[in-house]
Amino acid sequence: MQNPAAGATRVILVVAIDTPLRRVFDYRAPAAWAGEVQPGHRVWVPFGKRRVVGVVTECRDRSSVPEGKLRFAFERVEAEPTFDAGFLELLRWSADYYRHPVGEVIAAALPAALRQGAPIAVEETRWRLTVIGKEQGLEKVPARARQMRAAIEALTDVADRSAEDLVAAGISRESLRKLEDRGYVEHFTAETTPPASNEGLGTSRSPALNEAQQTAVDRIRGSLGSFVTWLLHGITGSGKTEVYLNAIATVLERGEQALVLVPEIALTPQSITRFRERFDVPFAIMHSGLSDGERLAAWRDARSGTARIVIGTRSAVFVPLARPGLIVVDEEHDSSFKQQEGFRYSARDLAIVRGQRHGIPVVLGSATPSLESLERAQRQAGSLLSLPHRAADAKPPTLTLVDLRKHGESQGISTPTLLAMRRHLDAGRQVLLFLNRRGYAPVLFCPSCGWAARCQRCDANLTVHRRSALLCHHCGAEQDMITRCPTCSSDVKPVGQGTERIEETLEAIFPKVPLARIDRDSMRRKGELEATLAQVDRNEIRILVGTQMLTKGHHFPNVTLVVVLNADQGLFSTDFRASERLAQTIVQVAGRAGRAEQPGEVLIQTEYPDHPLLSLLLRGGYDAFAAGALTERQQAHWPPYSRLALLRAEASHRAEPLKFLQAALAAAHRHAVKGVQLLGPAPAPMERRAGRHRAQLLLHAPTHAPLQRLLSSWILELESLPEGRKVRWSIDVDPAEL
Ligand code: ADP
Ligand code: ZN
Ligand code: ZN
Repeated sequence: MQNPAAGATRVILVVAIDTPLRRVFDYRAPAAWAGEVQPGHRVWVPFGKRRVVGVVTECRDRSSVPEGKLRFAFERVEAEPTFDAGFLELLRWSADYYRHPVGEVIAAALPAALRQGAPIAVEETRWRLTVIGKEQGLEKVPARARQMRAAIEALTDVADRSAEDLVAAGISRESLRKLEDRGYVEHFTAETTPPASNEGLGTSRSPALNEAQQTAVDRIRGSLGSFVTWLLHGITGSGKTEVYLNAIATVLERGEQALVLVPEIALTPQSITRFRERFDVPFAIMHSGLSDGERLAAWRDARSGTARIVIGTRSAVFVPLARPGLIVVDEEHDSSFKQQEGFRYSARDLAIVRGQRHGIPVVLGSATPSLESLERAQRQAGSLLSLPHRAADAKPPTLTLVDLRKHGESQGISTPTLLAMRRHLDAGRQVLLFLNRRGYAPVLFCPSCGWAARCQRCDANLTVHRRSALLCHHCGAEQDMITRCPTCSSDVKPVGQGTERIEETLEAIFPKVPLARIDRDSMRRKGELEATLAQVDRNEIRILVGTQMLTKGHHFPNVTLVVVLNADQGLFSTDFRASERLAQTIVQVAGRAGRAEQPGEVLIQTEYPDHPLLSLLLRGGYDAFAAGALTERQQAHWPPYSRLALLRAEASHRAEPLKFLQAALAAAHRHAVKGVQLLGPAPAPMERRAGRHRAQLLLHAPTHAPLQRLLSSWILELESLPEGRKVRWSIDVDPAEL
């Protein structure tokens, strides 16, 4: 039937399938629909003994697989391709860049329902009257057939109604079928357009922008329709969100869509309300808490263009858009934009790649930009937009170090801190204390013999929790609390502070002051965080104790004192990014203070008041810190002045990961690419975790190109190393943590 000379019909489908194998698979398309299939279509194919959904990435004339071994694809999932060519290309590029199996990358970009073969379009059964039904229905159906008469009445004066709708109105499917037999009604299938995920309210108006905001908005507006990566660097409360909102207003006027990526924790109703109150348009909201159905609906609205504003966490960077106009990455420095397992992509970096492919601007916003983004802004002259002042006349807070070596400290709280708390509480204000450690105490220790409670599966101490349990924060293992040392039977005691202990201490010191603790343990239930934040808003809570959860996105207008209880945890880490993270955390927490009229005060407790990083931060703020840190990075050849990839391996047997990495190292030397250095292998900073031993090999190169050149050939070889069969290994390009 086919004429190869004409070459009209390409019968070989190259299909990406959700498997860890780094390859695609060839299938023959049945002649009946071979001409109708194109890249981006989902197809049902046989895979081993299973029947799975794959995505066609290419259509070809011939395959290198021998004819006899080629299997036929079963069928197309639906007539419409799921992805257009451009989007498919973005996914393939991402798989290539992160060296991740393309089938898994494509699967990650699909809502679960579509991965399982559901159609994009939702169809439903609808009923309508036939011509006879319209003319004679009510005359012919006897009065006692009440259900049937009700059905005819329900369908009179309307074109048609859905089966579900009729059943909800009390009409049985049986009576509909009886009417159909008599020729009075008929049913048909139709695509539904489910209501958009969220309608905006559009009740709020933009305040008059200040000069810096107006400049930022004008420049973003001027760039619509072309690719620019803007860095919007504005201190907390400087009005960044107002800048996004005003830029988005123009995007909407142009008939385009805006994609707003936000950190995981910030996707609270509070922050979405701000957007919904401004625009009277359909929204698609995408986060990890959605059901499969909700996710598909939001995805569909984004893809069809129904949703004009799409707000989502990390994975929303893979949502297709019909008419993309602008991408915003809010709090671009946030670590949740980097996926830390499986397909290890950076949503921030991919947002930029997407912007470039669509030819639209990308706005990265932060009060504490990542050093990567600051370095890019330095290279791309004119791409930095600064908001140096707080918007609503609020003064920036003053930062003071409290030297823990000079001032007495009791249960983690120093005397100057206590005095300041009294002062602010007496003035009717609220106080926020930040400690990056949940639980009661990080160590359970025996003072007589030095024993400490360790996790049996990790190289880590167990954390004491107030509900009488010892928990491992790394693997989740749980043990009963003990009071006697298992080696010498002396009394053991909890050492150090967690948020629970700070809560206990403060309750004893300020028994009459209402307090709330905000961390992952206290805010487990859905809605609890919102309820507590509302209480803070109403001033029913005066002291807030919490972890990272407190540092992001929330507005606490009546908080005038912020205390960082222990700044030292990030000062002496082996990870070159630790100081950047610490500076960001301190500045973000500090930013919670005094957002309204009252100026704020920030106390930072430390045993190292002379630490150069803390001094830079105190004297010159985040900008001074960042300038210093960038100089250090440049001198040490760390990113953003070099590129990294990390090969990780783990196994339950201690020797295996290192053996595999040694073999990988030898293989890399065979592929030697100039400029790429290999460091290690070495055990991971926490070698044993959840019973598995971990090791890593670091690749370091001046730019990305030589790194990619090595990775592309090297990984294929890793897949065939015999040592690789005894370990689980993964590659992390641009790792966020070492
Ligand atoms: P950021 O996102 O930088 O933290 P926001 O956009 O949330 O800052 O603004 C902080 C506060 O200042 C908000 O309450 C906001 O409504 C207000 N605000 C922002 N811009 C202005 C402005 N031009 N005039 C008055 N108030 C403003
Ligand atoms: Zn002991
Ligand atoms: Zn553990």
